[in-house]
Amino acid sequence: MKKNTKIIATIGPACNNKDTLQAMVDSGVNVFRLNMSHGDTVSKQNLYNLVKSLDVSQGKRPAILTDLAGPKIRITNVPNNFSLSKGQSIIITNEKDIEGDQINVTEHIGFTKVSTGAKILINDGRIQLEVVEIISKHSLKCKTLIGGKVELRKGVNFPGITLDVPTLTTDDKKDLIMALESGADWIALSFVRSANDLDPVYKIMDTHGKRLPVMAKIEKWEALNNLEAITDSFDGVMVARGDLGVEIPAAQVPIAQKQVIDLAGSMGKPVVIATQLLESMIDSQTPTRAEVSDIANAIFDSVDALLVTGETAIGNFPVDVIKTLNQVIQETEKATNSGRSSLPEEVSKTADAISHAVCEIARDLDIEVIMTMTQSGSTAKMISRYRPRAKVFALTPSNQILRQLQLVWGVVPIKVSTYDNVEVIPDLCKVVLKKLKLIKTGDKFVITGGVPMGIAGTTNYLSVQKL
Ligand code: PGA
Ligand code: MN
Repeated sequence: MKKNTKIIATIGPACNNKDTLQAMVDSGVNVFRLNMSHGDTVSKQNLYNLVKSLDVSQGKRPAILTDLAGPKIRITNVPNNFSLSKGQSIIITNEKDIEGDQINVTEHIGFTKVSTGAKILINDGRIQLEVVEIISKHSLKCKTLIGGKVELRKGVNFPGITLDVPTLTTDDKKDLIMALESGADWIALSFVRSANDLDPVYKIMDTHGKRLPVMAKIEKWEALNNLEAITDSFDGVMVARGDLGVEIPAAQVPIAQKQVIDLAGSMGKPVVIATQLLESMIDSQTPTRAEVSDIANAIFDSVDALLVTGETAIGNFPVDVIKTLNQVIQETEKATNSGRSSLPEEVSKTADAISHAVCEIARDLDIEVIMTMTQSGSTAKMISRYRPRAKVFALTPSNQILRQLQLVWGVVPIKVSTYDNVEVIPDLCKVVLKKLKLIKTGDKFVITGGVPMGIAGTTNYLSVQKL
């Protein structure tokens, strides 16, 4: 089952048992996302154990992407059966005792740089308020523009308002430590606003002596203003369309999606599209035509991976969701041309030049297989970003790198034993290729990697060989 675009599925009550997860893996899941917004320590720990218990060929268990909840603002106190009607006055606050009708939101946040007329959105934008008076840094008086029922725990977004919130909450720190100790392969950070948001994450990782790749979830209006610096600093980016479509007008999300994909492509960073890919399949066994079209367009735009959330976490047809994704990927990839248009024309680094040359050589000589020898995963990512037509294998001695690469477009990771000199590389590749039976004896293949081994970004080796 050959597919280049990878599938990430969120685990939730609808699929958190071994049989369903196994069926999802067999249907094409490459990575499971553990959503830290829900559950307690015990249930979170169980999720790691569950994924680690799955049987997968060649010991390649699916990778684990731990998604840290981040500073999501929620309703923490509201009277029972409370509804707002159009025109109604209401105070949004995180101070306990304030006069008048009020809705309490997450504590310890301050509203800085807010002006009257700013919008506050509740429950994915279903309820809309407008700020009419700034009472204090913690309380805003608002007028209801669109009313509705206000429920506890629903999310609140503040587009255009700068919030004084920490990057990592106390819970995020605990979740991150558990991730490092329990086998996470990637970390996703919610509500990233700037490149500096990476600092507190690295600080905790460094005290635990283990760095994992971190993906920035692009879902805040500020993130779009700092997109270049964020993409450059983080190891990958995710277009988290759920919150993003509330933070900016939904009509601007498609443009933002294309911008993020292009920028990530030009910087060689994996890019993931998330949320509402197959929303209707929460209740229906078949997708809408529009959903299929949205997925196909993301594939045409060269995303690395597609991430489903509620569809598999709380939906009625988690396995059918994966089968549908897989079918759309298979059909669409038959029609996509190889190559990516958004890559930089100017190449200055050796690693860029070599990886570009590898893809050109493969194309010129009709080579079907590119073997990347990678210890950090960097060489494989460098090649993948050119979206070559040839199959990209990543030979690595590290289980963790092998799993991290499950998220990267087109890369098929393969475990090899450690090697310590360049001379053995061609023979090592030949053994793997003979086993895979992908090409015939006498067929050419190209090898690339970095020597000496183990230093990321040192792609400097290129060799064309015959099997
Ligand atoms: P969430 O992220 O499910 O953690 O909110 C995805 C999104 O916002 O699209
Ligand atoms: Mn979100």
